[in-house]
Amino acid sequence: MLRQVLLAASASQRVRRVVSTAPLTRDVVTRFVAGETTADALAVAQRLLADGLLVTLDYLGEDTVDPEQAAAVASEYVTLLERLCADGLTAGGRTEVSVKPTAVGLGLVGHGAKTAAENIARICVAARAAGTTVTLDMEDHTHVEATLGLVSELRPDFPDLGCVLQSYLRRTPGDCEALAGDRSRVRLCKGAYRAPDGVALPARSEVDRSFARCMRTLLAGAGYPMLATHDPRLIAIAQSLVAAGGRDASSYEYQMLYGVRRDEQQRLAAGGEQVRVYVPYGSDWYGYLVRRLAERPANLTFFLRALRSRQ
Ligand SMILES: Cc1cc2nc3c(=O)[nH]c(=O)nc-3n(C[C@H](O)[C@H](O)[C@H](O)COP(=O)(O)OP(=O)(O)OC[C@H]3O[C@@H](n4cnc5c(N)ncnc54)[C@H](O)[C@@H]3O)c2cc1C
Repeated sequence: MLRQVLLAASASQRVRRVVSTAPLTRDVVTRFVAGETTADALAVAQRLLADGLLVTLDYLGEDTVDPEQAAAVASEYVTLLERLCADGLTAGGRTEVSVKPTAVGLGLVGHGAKTAAENIARICVAARAAGTTVTLDMEDHTHVEATLGLVSELRPDFPDLGCVLQSYLRRTPGDCEALAGDRSRVRLCKGAYRAPDGVALPARSEVDRSFARCMRTLLAGAGYPMLATHDPRLIAIAQSLVAAGGRDASSYEYQMLYGVRRDEQQRLAAGGEQVRVYVPYGSDWYGYLVRRLAERPANLTFFLRALRSRQ
């Protein structure tokens, strides 16, 4: 219930204004976001790599309504990739990038898919030159079909373009079957957006069961599964599936969010697993932050304190 209220709040401009200007909000933001500048992102990536972790960088922003803004986001990614490469941070795909399709134009009326495809192709070219990869984030359920359309359109030219599947959607077990093929890079997560019951599974237990089922499909396939969860039970299931299938540790990876379960990230990496940390940066952090708060009631303590101090 609280989660639904918070996710609804993420769309409210009035709540956005109050939260963005509350003094304590900054403390909450810095836990989950690397900073506002490219230099902040590079510094955090360098630190995480030095700790034996892998990184995917996300330039914050979503729901772009202007083609020039969409092109500017793509240019930011190109510059980021050039700087990462110049600093030696992309070798072997150690640092890659995550891109939200609506940030590069998917939501533009009339020509969204074309604009997004062109911008993503530009980013993929820069990633290839830097020796690394791009993963397309999955946003709310209204964009799933179009996002998977972008993946199938672009993969002939960029076979290592990754995509995300969300276990809370009823359609996802079928999508996993379809996308578990050779070299297919698929990030599996539970899903962080609001969705109606007809489209999404209503109970957390069902979402978890679906995650385990999807993981089984992906780990049995010939692709490269990226298991994005902090859930200890699902990580334990992943480890037993990997052991039973004799899968090499280089043929899949775990992924977690910056600022969430840092000890577990280190523990898995120390045990020989590949662990990639999803690191967002940029000034447009509001929607991302509210989704992180909605995931965990304990995070709300910070949030409510921030709001109170504003009154
Ligand atoms: C690398 C990565 C990429 C993602 N990309 C997408 C995407 O493209 N599209 C999308 O819809 N969603 C994405 N997500 C978010 C995902 O869908 C979930 O909302 C989020 O990961 C929480 O689910 P969980 O599997 O960790 O399980 P949960 O059951 O939510 O959490 C399990 C445990 O993890 C810890 N935890 C989880 N979240 C938090 C938090 N915010 N703060 C503190 N502790 C926490 C808690 O200990 C919790 O008990 C991504 C997640 C990751 C890790």
